[in-house]
Amino acid sequence: MSQIEYDTAVIGAGLMGAGTALFLARSGMRCVLLDRSGVCSEASGVNAGTLTMQMTRADLIPYAIKGWEMWTNSQEWLGINPGVVAAPGLSLAFTEEEVATLEHRAAARRERGAQIELVTAAKARSIEPGLSTEVMAASYCPMDGFAKANQTGFALYQALKTARVDIRGSYWVERVEPEDRGYAVIGQGEVVRARRLVLAGGVWLEEMLNWLAVRIPIKTLVNQLAVTERIKPVMRTVIGIASGLLSLKQFDNGTVVIGGGWQGKGSRTTGSTQVIPENLIGNVRLAVHAIPNLVHTRLVRAWCGFEAETTDAMPVIGEVPGINNAFLIGSIHSGYTSGPFMAKLLAEYILGHEPELPLFDPSRLIDNESYSKNNVN
Ligand SMILES: Cc1cc2nc3c(=O)[nH]c(=O)nc-3n(C[C@H](O)[C@H](O)[C@H](O)COP(=O)(O)OP(=O)(O)OC[C@H]3O[C@@H](n4cnc5c(N)ncnc54)[C@H](O)[C@@H]3O)c2cc1C
Repeated sequence: MSQIEYDTAVIGAGLMGAGTALFLARSGMRCVLLDRSGVCSEASGVNAGTLTMQMTRADLIPYAIKGWEMWTNSQEWLGINPGVVAAPGLSLAFTEEEVATLEHRAAARRERGAQIELVTAAKARSIEPGLSTEVMAASYCPMDGFAKANQTGFALYQALKTARVDIRGSYWVERVEPEDRGYAVIGQGEVVRARRLVLAGGVWLEEMLNWLAVRIPIKTLVNQLAVTERIKPVMRTVIGIASGLLSLKQFDNGTVVIGGGWQGKGSRTTGSTQVIPENLIGNVRLAVHAIPNLVHTRLVRAWCGFEAETTDAMPVIGEVPGINNAFLIGSIHSGYTSGPFMAKLLAEYILGHEPELPLFDPSRLIDNESYSKNNVN
């Protein structure tokens, strides 16, 4: 009989997979982490790095608070701080209608534990002096911030090595096959055997689940971002707007990252992406509208990344329905913010502990036909 090498094979080394492998390994499991690229090379390494309560869905606020606490203590659990800055967040309203939207959003988030309050334009400008004089009011959250997403992979890689996770980069998994005592993970002309499986494929989670004949549709968002040249300090908070179509923050090297979910073009099948110039212009116009001092600043780069979304826009974290010892994690809105905590929750569950907060049962999203087929077997 073939040798089981690992307690757990985690496929996908984004924040969710790498985090899960890290917490499992620290509890004594032998883990292998497989990725066709490297640690945090997709969404987890190219995102805007906003650690946000204001832009997180209300129902995920308790998770985002825990994630924010982990990021701001990253030295403690990660060993390396990927440039985390705790900064207040302001979401801006320019019309009466937007003020009402902010009030409604703030109330829903306050109910779930986020300290968000509506402040006058004068108060908002005392917090962020660079704000446009056209701002009518803002919602203010002291618990926002940002990190350098492009340094997250390095920090996680070091932590995973220390925890003795076997990291296999450039390992394109083609399929997995259930065996008597676990799973065979097949790719690169090699077979890796493990007792348990964790699927953490970001937008490619749907294809990974197909390996087990389980169908959960995953939608792909192609988010665009841009970064400016280095400029003197023009802002010190994280800025958003009522419509949600802007996120702005200035890093310690003077660059400003401009985002907000404007869409580019791309295909998860080919992996190719393309910035849509009109959307970039719209995004930059909003940025200058919010912080007028950005007006003569040049952009140096724009790029896109793939973000996953389920049909109900809530995460999937738990057991693969109908399949023994197989788990999945992904499709988490504002997933960079709550990612480390979500990974810790799944690891707790796999280790047989009661997770600190409830998981997100994937069976709610399953295509019934394939679910009943799997349950019969
Ligand atoms: C442009 C952009 C901006 C964002 N901004 C923010 C933000 O400011 N704040 C916030 O909180 N969230 C943000 N997000 C969301 C956040 O980045 C994601 O929720 C999170 O990073 C998802 O992590 P993941 O591990 O699920 O997926 P990913 O990081 O995409 O990881 C999936 C991994 O699976 C691997 N993989 C796939 N198929 C295979 C295979 N067959 N074999 C081996 N490996 C495979 C891929 O190579 C990849 O590394 C943003 C997302 C994007 C795209």
